Amino acid sequence: MHCIVQCFGIHLRHKIYLQSYYKMIHIRQLHKSYHTEALSLHVLKGIDLNVEAGEYVSIMGASGSGKSTLLNILGILDTYDSGNYNLNGTLIKNLSEKTAAIYRNDFIGFVFQSFNLINFKNALENVALPLYYKKVSRKKRNIIAMEHLDRMGLKDWAHHMPNELSGGQKQRVAIARALISNPKIILADEPTGALDSTTTVEVMNVLTNLNKEGITTIIVTHEKSVADTTNRIIHLKDGMIEYETRKTNGIHTVNNN
Ligand code: ADP
Ligand code: MG
Repeated sequence: MHCIVQCFGIHLRHKIYLQSYYKMIHIRQLHKSYHTEALSLHVLKGIDLNVEAGEYVSIMGASGSGKSTLLNILGILDTYDSGNYNLNGTLIKNLSEKTAAIYRNDFIGFVFQSFNLINFKNALENVALPLYYKKVSRKKRNIIAMEHLDRMGLKDWAHHMPNELSGGQKQRVAIARALISNPKIILADEPTGALDSTTTVEVMNVLTNLNKEGITTIIVTHEKSVADTTNRIIHLKDGMIEYETRKTNGIHTVNNN
């Protein structure tokens, strides 16, 4: 009997450990205001959000509803005022810039609407840049960068400058750069906002495939077709989560849980 209780106890502890381990993002009552000389703007007003490892999530909402603010906090690019944000079991609060950079580099890959490529560096150098900051040798980082460009179907474009690439190609270079540090999470802020509809589908296919490979993927968008591609849509309104939908049998329905 003693053994059964003990074994069960171990089993239970193990299960709890696993559960908390797999909660990639755990946010409780998150608030954020911006302060300027003239006014204070309360942008996030008590966000509660869990994202499990491997989820494919989008965040929708009107312009100004706080989507980018939330994504920047998730990516440890910005701080918050109150509440808690746990990333993979670690409380992300009052971190030094150095510690924040370590978590960012180990966990998160960013993709932006405007690609954020460096114009005077070619595609290969842009993709390799995060490894430069990690002090990887030029030879090694160029080999790894080429592998990632190849994965994006851009091997032949490695030595082209950004202004020689189409919008879709630039975004795939940016995705290759985001992947080079093997992130657990991809955070994309309006990744298709500057693309036509055909290229949008192309970029979404890339992001969908990355998610299928196991990368937790969170996309901010105001395009319904983009959000519909993901498995869960968080609807943000005036800094609060209004409701969310989940995809079952290919259709999004409101989640009442
Ligand atoms: P969204 O991405 O949904 O369009 P944002 O999160 O960018 O919204 O912005 C939410 C609100 O916060 C907007 O009213 C915006 O003007 C304001 N805001 C965003 N960033 C700053 C900042 N750095 N300083 C002051 N106000 C800001
Ligand atoms: Mg925004």
